[in-house]
Amino acid sequence: MNYQFTNDLAHAKKLDEKDPLAKIRDHFYIKPGQIYMDGNSLGLASKEAVASLQEMTKVWQDKAIGMWDEYFHYGQKLGDECGKLINAQKNEVLITGSTTSNVHQCVSTLYQPTNDRYKILVDDLNFPTDRYAIDSEVRLKGYDPNDAVKVVKSPDGKYIDEDAVINAMTPDVTLILLPTVLYRSAQVLNMERLTQAAHQRNIIIGWDLCHAIGAIKMDFQKIQPDFAIWCTYKYLNGGPGSVAGMYLNSKHFDKNPGLAGWWGNRDDTQFQLKNQFEHQKDVSGWQIGTPTMLGMAPLEGSLKLINEVGIDQIRAKSLKITAYLMYLIDEKLTIYGCKIGNPREDSKRGGHVCLEHPNGYQISLALKDYQVIPDFREPDVIRLAPIALYTSYQEVYQLVEILENILKNKIYEKYSNKRGLVV
Ligand SMILES: *Cc1c(COP(=O)(O)O)cnc(C)c1O
Repeated sequence: MNYQFTNDLAHAKKLDEKDPLAKIRDHFYIKPGQIYMDGNSLGLASKEAVASLQEMTKVWQDKAIGMWDEYFHYGQKLGDECGKLINAQKNEVLITGSTTSNVHQCVSTLYQPTNDRYKILVDDLNFPTDRYAIDSEVRLKGYDPNDAVKVVKSPDGKYIDEDAVINAMTPDVTLILLPTVLYRSAQVLNMERLTQAAHQRNIIIGWDLCHAIGAIKMDFQKIQPDFAIWCTYKYLNGGPGSVAGMYLNSKHFDKNPGLAGWWGNRDDTQFQLKNQFEHQKDVSGWQIGTPTMLGMAPLEGSLKLINEVGIDQIRAKSLKITAYLMYLIDEKLTIYGCKIGNPREDSKRGGHVCLEHPNGYQISLALKDYQVIPDFREPDVIRLAPIALYTSYQEVYQLVEILENILKNKIYEKYSNKRGLVV
């Protein structure tokens, strides 16, 4: 979309006045004076999320073991709420495990290699944990990752070329795992196109939605991927290490879970505790052990708030506020050697702006001393995520003013280039 921005504070104020989501900010715990630009790594706590966590601790206090009468299907209930964000069918989404353990669960279930078809196709820009999981799943099935994991290389280290991915869908490939939004460059892949191309070749395809869910709109009933996995602590604001999400297409419900456990047993016979596993023929059949109730509870409040606003409004504001940030960078920061490292087209960019500068790491340290929380990704990327639910246009304006000061006066030179534990 073409927005009309001007580069003065009065304009930022006007954008806030006209922002239909401006009031949602009051639902979040925002540290006064701090500009939080890292909601794509760890979303802020909302009053709703904290309240539902407190409610769960109260349920534990009041009801003890009796709580299960009410909460036995909590993972499915929250899964259905989460599924609204991607238009999945009921019973196809579950809150369980971690992103990484859900990669293991889905791949161990769906990766059925044969002599002719045994390769898993991945890209070289996805978050590495997915690759670690894929490599180990390949090894568990007796293959060598050097042979059985086929990597589509990015031509420039920033973007994935969709045509190259499709060309790599050769007859020896049986499964594909790709990110929907790249964690560094924020590129959005065309899930529908790639899923269709995979299915035309009889290849199973799954998506990592970590940087997509809660940020962009997806229609799973239209796309019909085989599986998807995601974390809930980024744009879903579920809290540090909150329980992850998993989607399994209903066409796979008859398959045996790769990692079976008693919480995946049929509801009606689970407590008969038989030695023979009978899995529930919906996504809850892929639960393993007792659900992490305290790790899930904040999501209840958070998803309620997100669904009240709706992904359409969230995406509309996200596109506008990130466009505003890019506009200000173009206006004020490119003269200092800053580049925008994400796609410009609305359909091809996710929820954060990727600011590149050779001194990116030092700049990100300087930002912290000015009460801005960014995050840094190797080699030179400062990720800036103005979040639709809680970032104001005035904060974006102030952020760019602070960056301008740091760059113009070379304040970053005072900071060491040596990396910390969590960069
Ligand atoms: C954040 C992220 C993860 C994190 O995995 P966890 O198991 O939740 O720690 C995985 N994949 C992608 C693409 C991510 O952005």
